[in-house]
Amino acid sequence: MSMNVGLVYDPVYLKHDTGQHVENAGRLQAVLSHLEQTGLMPQLTLIKPRAASTEEIALVHQRQYISRIQEVAQKGGGWLDADTVTSSDSYQAAIYAAGGVITATEAVINGEVESAFALVRPPGHHAIPRQAMGFCLFNNVAIAARYALDSYVLERILIIDFDVHHGNGTQAAFYDNPQVLYTSTHEHPFYPGTGSISETGSGAGKGTTLNIPLPAGCGDAEYLLVFEQIIVPAARRFNPQLILVSAGYDAHWADPIALMQVTTTGIAQMARVIKALADELCNGRLAFTLEGGYNPTALATSIKATLDILLSNPEIEDPLGPSTRQFTPPSLTPLIKEIKETHNLP
Ligand SMILES: [Zn+2]
Repeated sequence: MSMNVGLVYDPVYLKHDTGQHVENAGRLQAVLSHLEQTGLMPQLTLIKPRAASTEEIALVHQRQYISRIQEVAQKGGGWLDADTVTSSDSYQAAIYAAGGVITATEAVINGEVESAFALVRPPGHHAIPRQAMGFCLFNNVAIAARYALDSYVLERILIIDFDVHHGNGTQAAFYDNPQVLYTSTHEHPFYPGTGSISETGSGAGKGTTLNIPLPAGCGDAEYLLVFEQIIVPAARRFNPQLILVSAGYDAHWADPIALMQVTTTGIAQMARVIKALADELCNGRLAFTLEGGYNPTALATSIKATLDILLSNPEIEDPLGPSTRQFTPPSLTPLIKEIKETHNLP
C-alpha cells in the first residue's frame, strides 16, 4: 500500500539569497530537480506552507530579535554573525521556513498525510532565542514543537537531530522542558562546540537532553549502532506522541564541511529506524525538516532516500556509493557504555 507523504515547499525558500555561501538556494533546486528526474515528485502530496506569525516565532525567540531580523532584511540584508548572511527577502523566507515546519507538523497531527518532509531554508537548529547562528535565523523545529505542545495539547515530543552538527539552539529551547526529548548525533569536537554527554537537561528537564557526540570517521554501521543501542530504547521509554526530525545531511561522506562517512544507503537505514519508531510509538506521526547538507548530489539522493522510506518504496538508489574517504571507523563501545550509564538505558 502506498503511503500518503507530504512535501512542504514554496519557492519563497529560494529567495533567501546568500550568494556564494555553502548554504544557498542551489541546494533546494538540486533536490527538486532530482525528485522530478527520478519520478518521485508525483508520489508526494505537495503542501504549501503558511508564514509563521510573530507570536509563533516568539514561542522560542525574543521579540527584539525577531524585529531585528526583519529590520536587517528591510535594509537589504547583511551578516548576522561570522557564518550567517541575509538578503532583503531573508525575513520572509525565514518566517515561511518556520511556518513550513508548523504546516508539516499540523498536516501529520491532523491526519492529512501520514508523514511529511519540510523542504525549507534557511535551516534552524543553531538559532538560539536571542541570536542567529550557523546559517540559521529562526529555530524552525523548536518553533513547531512549541506550537504542537501548545495548540494540540501534546505532552511528549521526541526530536531526533541527525545533522552532523549539534543543534545547540534546539537543545537550549527545551533544556529545562520535560515535554521534549531532544536527542542528537553529531561530530564532536566540532562546530558549535556544545553537545557533550554531560549536557542532559536541567530542572524538570533533567534527562530529556540526550547527546551522542561522535568522533570523526563514523559511517553507516556506527550510526546504526547508536540508533539501535541508544535512540530506540530512549524513544521507547519516553513514549512520544509525535516525532520531529532535524534532518541534516552533512554526515554524508561527500559533504564538504564535515568528516563523517555515512552513505545515502545509511541515511535510508536511519530513516527506516525512525519511521518504525513512529509507527510503533505514535501512530506514525512523523515530520522531517531539512537542516544542513552541503553537497548538492548527496543532499538530493539522501532526501530522495528518506522520502522513499516514508513512502515504503522497496528500492533505495545510492548513486554516490560507499565512502572514498580513508578513515578507519572508530570503536564506539566505551562511548555507548558511558551514554547508557548517564541516561540509565538498558
Ligand atoms: Zn549541519
